[in-house]
Amino acid sequence: MNNKSLGLVFFPAFDWAITPSHPEREERLLYTRDQIVEEGLLDLPTIREYRPKLAKIQDAQRVHIGVPDIASLITDAHLVSAGGAITAAEAVMRREVTNAFALVRPPGHHAMRVVQGTRGFCTINIEAIMIEYLRRHYGLNRIAIVDTDVHHGDGTQDIFYHDPDTLFISFHQDGRTLYPGTGAMTELGSPSALCSTVNIPLPPGTTDDGLHYVLDNLVLPVLEDFQPDIIINSAGQDNHYSDPLANMAITAQGYARLAEKLNADIAVLEGGYSIEDALPYVNTGIILAMAGLDYSRVVEPDIARCPRQSAANTRYIAQLVANWQDIWRQRDELRREAIAQAGDFWQRRRSIYYDDSGIQERQQETVRICPRCHGYQTVATEAEGNPFGVKTAFAAMIPRNSCSTCRSQARDAVHKAKQEGHYDYCILQDKELDTLEQI
Ligand SMILES: [Zn+2]
Ligand SMILES: [Zn+2]
Repeated sequence: MNNKSLGLVFFPAFDWAITPSHPEREERLLYTRDQIVEEGLLDLPTIREYRPKLAKIQDAQRVHIGVPDIASLITDAHLVSAGGAITAAEAVMRREVTNAFALVRPPGHHAMRVVQGTRGFCTINIEAIMIEYLRRHYGLNRIAIVDTDVHHGDGTQDIFYHDPDTLFISFHQDGRTLYPGTGAMTELGSPSALCSTVNIPLPPGTTDDGLHYVLDNLVLPVLEDFQPDIIINSAGQDNHYSDPLANMAITAQGYARLAEKLNADIAVLEGGYSIEDALPYVNTGIILAMAGLDYSRVVEPDIARCPRQSAANTRYIAQLVANWQDIWRQRDELRREAIAQAGDFWQRRRSIYYDDSGIQERQQETVRICPRCHGYQTVATEAEGNPFGVKTAFAAMIPRNSCSTCRSQARDAVHKAKQEGHYDYCILQDKELDTLEQI
């Protein structure tokens, strides 16, 4: 007997587009909605539709440091998209449905913690905003995100890179062959959160067989070990064989079986740009699977076009999984070693390009390695091309459940930066008090 029920949230964002002919446009959702109505899915007693609520600026500020501020960088469409994800999550938390799927746009998984503009069609990270909302309002702690978009979820990775309570698993087309270029196996999280980032870069041409091998032998066992309170799926559909932006070979059946096995509590739509040939089928397959219904007849008319996986790819994927299984087995030891090696602080410098806004950002990030809490963090950011003319900002972040030493050191760091006068903005984000203030 089917004891599942599914909540659906649609938001096609008619008034938001990068450009009118851009692949990320409202038709992405309209074709899917037509198909779902045509199939009578919305008439089924196990499927319930919800209207998206509007997220608040505070919900976004719980995650992001906007330069100059988040409100200046987004439109209402972004708040409805994030609000749609929150609506889906709340339907599950209130046990009105067993799971939920937010089919919303604009997408979010390339939006990092610091936001100076738009990258990879994303300005704010709707999954991260939903996750921190759930922690704040529903007391959840351990959360797993499985990003099944073809592009590496570099924004989500960045936001949770220092958080051992958030497991981020992303499989994607290898970054050496696709935007945004990151997502190598060596990106594992900062020392206190080592191995809570799990990147699985797959070769172009990976099919349903390769994907399900990764799922069965790596993703599902890792989830089982992590024991999350809740599983979130960043459900990008651009792994489809017909997608114009990537080179993978996944089918609607492959995606539907993935949704069934993953059994995510909440799915949030990310990419997918094959508007007529893939999205209606993939979304219908996922919806049926999440609702516990038969999806075996959801097949693309042009399925014969889907290539087969090469023997070389099959071998490559088996080796990749074996390498990851080794890392995962040694994760506690690797984390202890990384913490010992880092000393009191872990630092990194990097450049981040906002391809939609033409902004080049340089960041220096510092994480306090603290034996009593997750450790406070600071980030100094400098950008060329920000339309607001803001060049530099310094932010300190106080994590949830922070110790008193980290709280006072974070405050000291941001006040010191202010006094030095090198920065246009100095910002303190306090996840404990749920505040963000300009110093
Ligand atoms: Zn994508
Ligand atoms: Zn601490």
